Amino acid sequence: MSGPYELSGKKLLVVGAGSGIGLATAHQAVVGSAKVAATVFDEDQQATIDATGVAWSSVVDVRDEAVATAVEDAADTLGGLDAVILTAGIFDYRSITDTQPEDWQRIIDTNLGAAYRVSRVAVSLFERQRRGSLVLVSSQVGIIGHPRAAAYAASKAGINGLVRALALELAPFGGRANAVAPGPIATPMTETARGDPDRRQWLIDQIPLGRFGEADEVARVLLFLASDAASYVTGQVLPVDGGVTTR
Ligand code: NAD
Repeated sequence: MSGPYELSGKKLLVVGAGSGIGLATAHQAVVGSAKVAATVFDEDQQATIDATGVAWSSVVDVRDEAVATAVEDAADTLGGLDAVILTAGIFDYRSITDTQPEDWQRIIDTNLGAAYRVSRVAVSLFERQRRGSLVLVSSQVGIIGHPRAAAYAASKAGINGLVRALALELAPFGGRANAVAPGPIATPMTETARGDPDRRQWLIDQIPLGRFGEADEVARVLLFLASDAASYVTGQVLPVDGGVTTR
């Protein structure tokens, strides 16, 4: 066992594995001797993910129904899936008055719509297999308020409701559904905020641990929830936020 949880031989799919938290998750799983399938957003990301040693990769836009086919293809290639982890997502820093209908639609569809599309096919697969762990990525912003992030907050709060409902649908056949709610993490998503001295300081002032988290720190918790180490954990939204949501 090379990581904190036994992943050896486990069949995992990471959707949105091209950068940040998703890339760290796929990489840690490969290091832990899991059989890893990954979807990414473009060919550049595919070259990056293939270099980690994943067993299978595919380019897919999570706003498209093709993402459901990708989940099925990954399962066919690996001979089933023990866990499906969805990390793809977008953030948009704008006030509600600046949020045009197309902005709202894009954020809700990329974050919450993708969670619906991936969950639907994963639950169906887990039902046939009589096992499986679904792990989604929420956000501290789905739990506590954040200015200029209404659509994002709504999308992530939707994910929190989704995992609680899916936990009950999966439980009769031993499946599980959970989410991780990261706080501010040093990934491409927060590059703009971290590069702006005022926003950076404002964010750090909210974090009891006084620093941004690293993608690997979130990946470890995602893989914990994916693994059998979390066999009695379901329907939970687990903050990985340096203590932000304790305030
Ligand atoms: P990131 O930008 O590195 O990762 C997001 C990934 O989603 C990227 O690889 C991007 O290409 C992919 N993506 C975006 N739109 C897509 C689409 N339509 N189809 C397919 N892929 C698409 O940032 P990250 O921090 O690793 O984000 C991962 C998850 O963590 C996201 O769901 C994000 O909302 C969540 N999150 C991040 C933070 C943070 O501070 N970084 C905090 C809370 C939650």
